[in-house]
Amino acid sequence: MIKHRITLLGSQDRDLQGWLSEHPEHHERGAIILFLRLARKVEGQEVSDRFLAVEVIKMSDDWVLESSPTHLKINMRKFTDVYLRCEIEKLELGFVHNHPTSLSIDFSSQDDINERNILYGLSGCNGKESFLIAMLLKNGTWKARIRQGTAPSEIIPVRHISVISNNIKLHGLSIPDQSQEILKRQEAAFGKPFNVMLSSLRVAVIGLGGTGSSIATMLARVGVRELILIDGDKLEKTNLNRIHGCRVKDENTNKAKILADYIESLGLETSVSIVEEFLDESEMGIDALSSADVVFGCTDDQLGRDLMNQALYYYAQVYIDMGLTGFIDLDIEGLPYLRDHRGRISCILPEDGACLRCQRVISDDKIKLQQAIKHKPELAKLDSETLKNEFYLIGGGEQAPGVGPFTSATANIAVATFMNLLKPYRDISIELRQDNIWFDFVHMNTYSNEPIDNSECIYCRQHLLLVKSEGNYRLETPSYGKIKYD
Ligand SMILES: [Zn+2]
Ligand SMILES: [Zn+2]
Repeated sequence: MIKHRITLLGSQDRDLQGWLSEHPEHHERGAIILFLRLARKVEGQEVSDRFLAVEVIKMSDDWVLESSPTHLKINMRKFTDVYLRCEIEKLELGFVHNHPTSLSIDFSSQDDINERNILYGLSGCNGKESFLIAMLLKNGTWKARIRQGTAPSEIIPVRHISVISNNIKLHGLSIPDQSQEILKRQEAAFGKPFNVMLSSLRVAVIGLGGTGSSIATMLARVGVRELILIDGDKLEKTNLNRIHGCRVKDENTNKAKILADYIESLGLETSVSIVEEFLDESEMGIDALSSADVVFGCTDDQLGRDLMNQALYYYAQVYIDMGLTGFIDLDIEGLPYLRDHRGRISCILPEDGACLRCQRVISDDKIKLQQAIKHKPELAKLDSETLKNEFYLIGGGEQAPGVGPFTSATANIAVATFMNLLKPYRDISIELRQDNIWFDFVHMNTYSNEPIDNSECIYCRQHLLLVKSEGNYRLETPSYGKIKYD
């Protein structure tokens, strides 16, 4: 059965909750939500479109013919302008209202009639492919269902309504009576709804090396049911000291493929989809990415990170990026001596946390350097001084050792960070930021870096890309290819 997903930003949720519940005489109230529909197919996953709320239009007095605590009559003529906007801007129509006095959180029979009427008008103007997303608020909790003009009386159920603020709240989940045996110990720590939340979210892991392989296997074990693994790289012998789920005989096999086979062999009912290409070179990869609720960035690739750092805003995603850095000196015997080694976990939500550019993880200089190395691999061996003086390239010369316990530890903290978003349990000192946590494996301490205070940042401060329509090209970037709308 097809079940779509709905995403609201924290600001939209607060705005709607305030409007709907603050009628001076506690009458029913309504609002329009315009949704962007992300409906790109992912092989191996069930069809589940993402409807991202783009704009809220409150139904002020001029919309209302009459209202009371138990009913709301809307002036249907007011819808004409909204139908037109949906048509022009390729948006889907949402209608939200509340039931202030009813005891149950269920749609009423009157709601059935109203929804079919709105959809009838909408299909008449914009065609039968149009959707109507109906949402109901009761005691701070959302419920939703979808209809399409092709079959107005049929209800398309909604898997969940996610509200992304500085954490993730999922509404409308159906919690089964039975607990899952495998996840009982986890349920003991976080409760049953937590496990249901994990099983409802689609998660993408980009890069299946030391950190990504550990994350992918851990996500499957903690109960994520829909995993997308993206990596164009093949396994080399030197990876075997730290990549989970791979064997010596897997040498020269694609890393995403190895992990997918391994996770499937665990028998945990995980649906794993793979894209055996690098994200920034893969139309299929970007389409699969857009279908995910949560993204783990586990690549050293600046272009890939830059892409995910934009995608999190366009696609309203939770993005957890990680990386390791270090410095290796020589000891008195002339042997390598690890003097610095740190793992970073950056947790960025569309309306919370500094973006990777403001966190200084990506920069145009670093992107330029990486592109240069792609064309001339020998540049990677040069120190930063030579790169700067002879090639006008900034950066480089950084050392990132590849040691299993450190990559795995960083990955595990990243998965725990994801869990903290679903069920906040951390009680951390005010010096630590949620969006940027470093683990220093040499001195064994934890700290955060303050981001750049750039009020001009189009990503995390100006929010210019937030749930923005991509137009014809993926992420509005022609090199990422033309979007195939169905
Ligand atoms: Zn109603
Ligand atoms: Zn920023």
